[in-house]
Amino acid sequence: MKRKSIWLENIYDQESILRQDITCDVLIVGAGMTGVATAYHLRNKGFNVVVVDKNKVGHGISARTTGKITYLQETIYSDLKKKHSLDVSKKYLDSQLEAIELIRSIIEEHHIDCDFESVVSYVFSQHENSSVMEEKRLLEQFGVEVEQEGNAIKVDGTYVFHPIKYILSLKEICKQSGVQFYEKTDIHFMKKGSHGYICGNELVSICAKKIVFACHYPYFLFPFLIPLKCTLERSYVSAAKVEKVEPYSAISVDQPVVSIRYHQDERNGYMIYASESHPLYQKYDSKKHFDVLEKSVLKMGLRPRYMWSNHDIMTFDQLPFIGRLEKGSRDLYLATGYNTWGMTNSNLAGKIISDMILDIYNRYEELFSPLRKLHIESLPKIIYGGMKPMIENKVWKSKKWNPDNVYFEGDLAIYVDKWGKEHVVYNRCPHMKCSLLFNSVEKTWDCPCHGSRFDLDGHVIIGPSNYNITYYH
Ligand SMILES: Cc1cc2nc3c(=O)[nH]c(=O)nc-3n(C[C@H](O)[C@H](O)[C@H](O)COP(=O)(O)OP(=O)(O)OC[C@H]3O[C@@H](n4cnc5c(N)ncnc54)[C@H](O)[C@@H]3O)c2cc1C
Repeated sequence: MKRKSIWLENIYDQESILRQDITCDVLIVGAGMTGVATAYHLRNKGFNVVVVDKNKVGHGISARTTGKITYLQETIYSDLKKKHSLDVSKKYLDSQLEAIELIRSIIEEHHIDCDFESVVSYVFSQHENSSVMEEKRLLEQFGVEVEQEGNAIKVDGTYVFHPIKYILSLKEICKQSGVQFYEKTDIHFMKKGSHGYICGNELVSICAKKIVFACHYPYFLFPFLIPLKCTLERSYVSAAKVEKVEPYSAISVDQPVVSIRYHQDERNGYMIYASESHPLYQKYDSKKHFDVLEKSVLKMGLRPRYMWSNHDIMTFDQLPFIGRLEKGSRDLYLATGYNTWGMTNSNLAGKIISDMILDIYNRYEELFSPLRKLHIESLPKIIYGGMKPMIENKVWKSKKWNPDNVYFEGDLAIYVDKWGKEHVVYNRCPHMKCSLLFNSVEKTWDCPCHGSRFDLDGHVIIGPSNYNITYYH
């Protein structure tokens, strides 16, 4: 079994590293689904657009998704109605339907080969569950045709695809229109200069008139203070070979949430099965979650060929953050916080932000604005989901959470592999100095505060950390 995402199998793509200072009109920081979708909508519009990624194009959170394109997102519409209003709930539905149509039309227009398949989507519960039926009634009130099958509800007009094939195809389309991509090029700083913003790292700087932060969890604290606005949720995903690929995707509303879809590659069919979600700030042991996941797949008579974990940003009010980063500024933009529904929302973000840059009215600008006020009900979440875990981690250093084959000496964390070799790292995430948790299945050092991940040698794989952790040979 491979401890990596199925979407990263047989993907060979390489961009150049930025080695000299450059100037551009729009700099997009992050080449995941959001960054590439934004570049797509800004191409051919008279702007000099540059996209940089600290890692490789499409190799962040988007590479570890389950890749469903659906508007049936657990019980989001009932939740939004309760938290906000009927109007907000309906507008969110409209936005998701528009995003799906956007993705479909882009794939059709450019004949993108990304295993895009039409499927029906289910939301289900193992038990009679009133919230699923409430969701059905609300969707019907909004004019959506919903069918009931036992404890499940079903809609059509939804899809699945191969997220990296889609991202890399969009990247090629953008490049043909002159958009420049640079990999292994991270942004560590940003300051205002006389002709725009200067940002870059120790080696290079980029002067840009406008910047779009499409970097998932932003590396900077100010002005957005993201740790106080969201939590992170991790899920465990597997892909097992199947004889027959089914034309549906499904997600449960029970705990633990179960998510299923199928995928056909050139040779084999796979069932992609995700489960075992938990907030990152809770005490957890990745190995235990992987074991439970594996057992569930084996129980179905299947054997996982791939297993990986992934996390996404969960906003307190269940709406993404898409739009201006600072009051009064028309030059800094942010897109993140998709609550595990980033295939639709990142594509939508690309459209909304490009419309804002192009001065085109977009009806979702206000709804998703990162500058919106948080409800007073978010306060307990800010304290218990945002601040408390960070303080706890700093005080207790989450040492107790680590598996048995990890021990500590002062500020060093030592993992002993099955051959008895010791892997020694400095036990502090460079982002906000939280101590790390070893993920003994994927062999990564993970930060339970803000989701940074480092490989066995200490190299950063996923941000917000911009720096590696020190590895001692
Ligand atoms: C288990 C799981 C399953 C999911 N399944 C689905 C699904 O089926 N359908 C759905 O709609 N959504 C799903 N999601 C959500 C979706 O995968 C994410 O919301 C989405 O991929 C986020 O895309 P992104 O472009 O914002 O982030 P990313 O893909 O992480 O892109 C951000 C990029 O920014 C780069 N970067 C970061 N910091 C810097 C820096 N300082 N300088 C330069 N570059 C930087 C990173 O290297 C990265 O490539 C799932 C999420 C999880 C956790």
